[in-house]
Amino acid sequence: MNKLLRKTLLYKTGVEYGDYTINHVLGCSHGCTYPCYAFMMARRFGRVKDYNEWLEPKLVENSLELLKKEIPKKQKSIKSVHLCFTTDPFMVGYPEVTEMSLEIIRLLDYYGIKCTTLTKGVLPPELSKFDNKHEWGISLVSLDDSFRKLYEPFSADYPQRLASMKNLHDMGCKTWVSIEPYPTPNIVQQDLRVLLDRVSFTDRIIFGRLHYNKLVSSYMGFQDFYDDAITTVVTFCSRRGIDYHIKEKTTTKDTIENIERITNSVFPILHHDDVNDFKQYQNYLKYVDLQDSYTNLLFMLKIDNSKLKQIIKKLSDSNNSIHFLHELIIGNTLNEFCKKNSLVLEYSPKYKYSGKKPAKNPDWIVSDGNQKVVIEVVTIDKSNQESAFETCIGLIHNLAKDGLKRNGIDTDLDFNASRFKIPTYQERLNKKEHAKQEDRFTDFCREVSDRIVTKVISGYGRDKYETDDSGLLFKIKSGGLTYMTTVGHETYRVINSILDKGKKYSALSNVMPVIVAVANSHQNRSKAYPPSEIAKLLYYPDTVYEQQFSNITDKEKHINNIQDRIEDLKVLEGILFYKIDYNRIYTTDYEYYPNPHKDTNWEIPEKFKTYLEVNSNGHK
Ligand code: SF4
Repeated sequence: MNKLLRKTLLYKTGVEYGDYTINHVLGCSHGCTYPCYAFMMARRFGRVKDYNEWLEPKLVENSLELLKKEIPKKQKSIKSVHLCFTTDPFMVGYPEVTEMSLEIIRLLDYYGIKCTTLTKGVLPPELSKFDNKHEWGISLVSLDDSFRKLYEPFSADYPQRLASMKNLHDMGCKTWVSIEPYPTPNIVQQDLRVLLDRVSFTDRIIFGRLHYNKLVSSYMGFQDFYDDAITTVVTFCSRRGIDYHIKEKTTTKDTIENIERITNSVFPILHHDDVNDFKQYQNYLKYVDLQDSYTNLLFMLKIDNSKLKQIIKKLSDSNNSIHFLHELIIGNTLNEFCKKNSLVLEYSPKYKYSGKKPAKNPDWIVSDGNQKVVIEVVTIDKSNQESAFETCIGLIHNLAKDGLKRNGIDTDLDFNASRFKIPTYQERLNKKEHAKQEDRFTDFCREVSDRIVTKVISGYGRDKYETDDSGLLFKIKSGGLTYMTTVGHETYRVINSILDKGKKYSALSNVMPVIVAVANSHQNRSKAYPPSEIAKLLYYPDTVYEQQFSNITDKEKHINNIQDRIEDLKVLEGILFYKIDYNRIYTTDYEYYPNPHKDTNWEIPEKFKTYLEVNSNGHK
């Protein structure tokens, strides 16, 4: 790759949503033809002579050297740094650019400076290692590949871009999407709502029109078109609690204010206490796109107004709503009991119980006025282990595709992951250990993808699925959708999730008793997870018969795991197993199994004891 030297690199930017910026590359291989404003400026000021030269990026070789001097000098005045406004930090086909971008981000992270990135390439999973105040974004103005090929010809395809952002979101990172420059219908016919729906999990959306393209002004009523689009964006974001910004000059300031005046009122303006009945409450949330049953749960639980916006956002995100729905369903059964027995139930209260940074707030706290109990929900459907699993598949997919491309095979792959095994995933690691774990996962994905590439080049996986050593089945895609099946909800994962809660709440358990509530909506739960068997596996692992628990393939490893984590187990008072049935979400069955190994002397509040003693489904 071509290189150049610069004298300075850290600039204050005039862009409306930016503060400082770093552009450590001249040119951009993505070659957007909307046209690209950065290219027009570079050509006008003689930095590149033509489009072909723009397509051959030059990396600023002395970037780190310069930044090590410039950042400490300006550190105090910097609110955030954006990578990049005039090039792309994760340029397709240029790993040197990605490496340099990651080094720069590492430097900003070290100085505690917030960083935002924007790409039409693929966001690398390594970004998850950094502080989660940073924001990782993709540019996405369409889902139509023929539009991409014409206007963003050498960028990453949309599914890859989206998958890389979703992976980071799942790993707890903040993400954002720039829907700019949004084209008019004479350029591409598309439904903005479909695009918005695909990114509904993101934290922030920026929307702006397409400039410098005659096709836009030749579209009759283009300003009305953009005003309608802004209305759609503002309404969509307001209903879901997503931050948004409409770029200046997309329409007039007055129009934006007017649209906001009409659409912003969609979010609750009343306090929950002002609402007397469900009808009034429905009215109060009438613009929120939630199923009636969800709204009903929120109404019954009287969720505090300050938390309502956040919950609605999470419930509206179809990719991630399950865990929060489970929290509410379990809260509902607790609430029923608490109301009858004069107990107070609080959702996600702030609790200062450990050093500087408390872990996340407990989900539910039941109180009789003196003694309290924490009920912390674990969802079987979605664990961090499972997210790591999906992330691995996503990364292997990208790496293998790139590897095949480098070998002259431009094709996609289908995966079947029913027997795929990833390295052990651990939660709550400190930053350094977490980074090591990430490296281990990345190395593992590289190994798997290298093996797959070698096999495909040698002619395997062409007509039928081939198995990799990891258990991942792969085949050259023959059209249709990629399908991916997961390993199922393995029992060890449930047990580790329970133990992880013990680890997470060990400090809180010094202040009050902690019970883990396992929400299981698995369809074959009776076969896969009878609570009594899970309790036995957790509490008395050495009494387990091999055949009885086919999911525990290595009994000795399982016993050792529990022995190793006995301190995490001792923290817990017991496990409440809930059988979630979405058809009857207000009357969920449960069973309680007290922990024989508990190490605390807490007394469960007298009035709450009967909830634990009486199992709703009558058998233990
Ligand atoms: S990705 Fe950005 S900088 Fe690169 S060509 Fe496209 S618009 Fe220009």
